[in-house]
Amino acid sequence: MKPLTVNFRSKAALTLADAQIQQSIEHVYTGFFKGRLTAAGETPDWENLRTKGKAIKDHTIANLDYYLGLLTDNVEKNGGSVFFADDAEEARQHILDLAHKLKIKTVIKSKSMVSEEMGLAEAMTDEGFETVETDLGEYIIQLANETPYHLIAPAVHKSRADVARLLDDDYKDGDRVPDATELTMMAREKLRGVFERADMSVTGVNFAVAESGSIALVTNEGNGRMSTTVPRVHVAVMGMEKIVPSIQDLSTMLRILIRSATGQRISTYVTMVNGKRKPDEEEGPEEFHLVIMNNGRQKLLEDPQLRESLNCIRCGACLNACPVYRKVGGHAYGWVYPGPIGAIVTPVLTGLKDADNLPSASSLCGACHDACPVKINIPRMLLELRYRTAEGSTDKVERTSSAKERGIWKAWRMGMMGRKRFDIGSRIASIALKPLSRNGWLKKAPPPLSGWTSTRDFPVIAASSLKSRLKKRSGDLK
Ligand code: SF4
Repeated sequence: MKPLTVNFRSKAALTLADAQIQQSIEHVYTGFFKGRLTAAGETPDWENLRTKGKAIKDHTIANLDYYLGLLTDNVEKNGGSVFFADDAEEARQHILDLAHKLKIKTVIKSKSMVSEEMGLAEAMTDEGFETVETDLGEYIIQLANETPYHLIAPAVHKSRADVARLLDDDYKDGDRVPDATELTMMAREKLRGVFERADMSVTGVNFAVAESGSIALVTNEGNGRMSTTVPRVHVAVMGMEKIVPSIQDLSTMLRILIRSATGQRISTYVTMVNGKRKPDEEEGPEEFHLVIMNNGRQKLLEDPQLRESLNCIRCGACLNACPVYRKVGGHAYGWVYPGPIGAIVTPVLTGLKDADNLPSASSLCGACHDACPVKINIPRMLLELRYRTAEGSTDKVERTSSAKERGIWKAWRMGMMGRKRFDIGSRIASIALKPLSRNGWLKKAPPPLSGWTSTRDFPVIAASSLKSRLKKRSGDLK
């Protein structure tokens, strides 16, 4: 796994200063965000579908042991094997051991955020396997040696010229920039041969269906279907929460996932995999392995305040709706999952100390909650994590706030809790800050508040409270 380097402020500042990236990531708003609104508006029972989706996920997560057991039984009945990995390292090692044992040479990957958690592609390459991403966005990211920028559009921050430079060694600045179709054909040409020689595929899982032991993959490029039919070995990797009880539930979840992700009614390909190839079938792998990973999810499951985050179906709608993500971009969040949902799962899955800025990277406007197809109350959980950062909590999260920060908030709390204290405090602050104000605004507050005014103006603190001014005014009127 890549080392965790959450340095939100400096990475956000880099993105904010990059005009090209700002222009490229605008697509998450003009394309995905608006597409979702249109798709939802055209679906008469949209709110009911969201409610149903939430109920399905609530029920599944509340009975996760049962459904994981049922899924395992049915995958094995279909001739597959199931491996439960406690963490990313165990999952990665299991797949590497499989590849060695089965004398694999070339591995093709279809998009999977769980495999990003494992750092699987790098590990397989390091061990000598030719390992190639086949999702177009992931392929671009692999060539650029970067991490994905967005849950469903990993290379959304790249311009067409950037992609041309990565796909064509002869491309020079100033050459005509190829259009999207030409770029896709360039990638297709390179990837076709890899598909043909691949003897193992690693794919993600959009949903695993417990009652049938099937996995569902949603793609728009067909690489998922090629990956699950051409190589002789198929390994599917999933977080332990990516499960639905029945095929009927899958139908509901697909309707809300696809509309929320890309604004389509249905994606170009929905691939169902029912284990390895049967004797009477012409296509499909000779072996099917399902790797189910915990990697910190148990902590979320045991935490009543944060458990809801396991309902996430990774559609990316909260990223597209988030005014912060749309400016600071995906790499600022430092790990696999960016945006509002990343600001919750990253601190818990990786340890809050490394990611303690993330829950504060939100204006708490609630746009993510409105957008989420399974109605996850993201702002509530962000507030909970902020509280834990400040206060420290028993065993789930380490306290990372400084003594100075806690002192400031304590003084603030005391001031806000008593009318007299509030009035006296406001009066003192108003007098003390008056020399620094200009035209009703405080441009540069002294430490320890200077951080606040380094990027925004602050209105001057009024000399008297609204209540006392109203009182005076009504006296004057009398
Ligand atoms: S939190 Fe909701 S909106 Fe965000 S990725 Fe997950 S399911 Fe989609």
